[in-house]
Amino acid sequence: EGEKREREMEVRELGRTGLKLSCVGFGASPLGNVFGTVSEEEAIASVRLAFQSGINFFDTSPYYGGTLSEKVLGMSLKALGVPRNSYVVATKCGRYKDGFDFSADRVTRSIDESLERLQLDYVDILQCHDIEFGSLDQIVNETIPALVKLKEAGKTRFIGITGLPLGIFSYVLDRVPPGTLDVVLSYCHYCLNDSALEDLVPYLKAKGVGIINASPLSMGLLTQAGPPQWHPASPQLKSACQDAAAHCKEKGKNISKLALQYSLLNKEITSVLVGMKSVEQVEENVAAARELATCGIDEEAVSEVEAILKPVKNQSWPSGIQQS
Ligand code: NAD
Repeated sequence: EGEKREREMEVRELGRTGLKLSCVGFGASPLGNVFGTVSEEEAIASVRLAFQSGINFFDTSPYYGGTLSEKVLGMSLKALGVPRNSYVVATKCGRYKDGFDFSADRVTRSIDESLERLQLDYVDILQCHDIEFGSLDQIVNETIPALVKLKEAGKTRFIGITGLPLGIFSYVLDRVPPGTLDVVLSYCHYCLNDSALEDLVPYLKAKGVGIINASPLSMGLLTQAGPPQWHPASPQLKSACQDAAAHCKEKGKNISKLALQYSLLNKEITSVLVGMKSVEQVEENVAAARELATCGIDEEAVSEVEAILKPVKNQSWPSGIQQS
């Protein structure tokens, strides 16, 4: 039965970790109610369907919903009743509801708190969350060495960093001993409106780190319903994405499906994390991946949407503090 599940979703290797992740990963930030309220029943059913459909990678953080996402994900994974090594769990440290703290002391306590909420003995990946909000030199000299110790203690199998501005990844990777970091998680930089991550892929491969791409729907920009209130995009970017969504709808097409498929095309990127909060969204996203594997992408729709988004291509938004 396990084999049957694997056949249903492509898996890709994550850098040098030996982990094989489903190409679609389950982003659990919506389980922290950041995109509207999700009931426990819906969360459990969504995680179950995802797992049964071949999704084996689940990403969360103590920040999402002020620890709620970790608790709900932990409960939902437990409800699966499957062996621990049949799924991969990533969480983060350093970013919390009440702010950032990348000190060795805080991240060392953080993993124990996360493991308790997740009801796990270890996580597969522990990442410093949104490092552009901290001092990158502290990340290099203090936080990452603390994560290395947590890895040695068996609390996490692998370690990584996440954030928005792409320059943070090379800043850190150029300053830690080779092989220290196992994975980077980039978001909103490999989707229909912004593919800036592409240029960094050869560098990341040369450094031997696995690449995870989050937010293929640009945190809601590339959806028919549009982004949540807190979305940081400029009015111009929001309106261009709205135009693209309207264009797809007019043609009887679905912008979210196209967006996810676009992000899945680059096989150097191991897994695309899409935030899911309902059984229906899991069904749609699994179907999108299967359709891509069997029929390929709708090239015409991609070109049309790319033309609409051209004026805002690779337009991002400020994130973090100015590094000195
Ligand atoms: P996303 O681009 O995946 O968009 C999520 C939004 O799209 C949600 O509102 C979701 O309900 C909706 N959605 C999902 N499937 C849909 C479908 N088929 N049709 C219409 N709407 C659909 O953005 P995200 O959730 O922010 O990112 C995905 C995951 O990546 C997060 O949950 C998180 O785990 C991870 N992530 C990490 C970082 C970081 O570490 N700094 C940043 C961003 C995201």
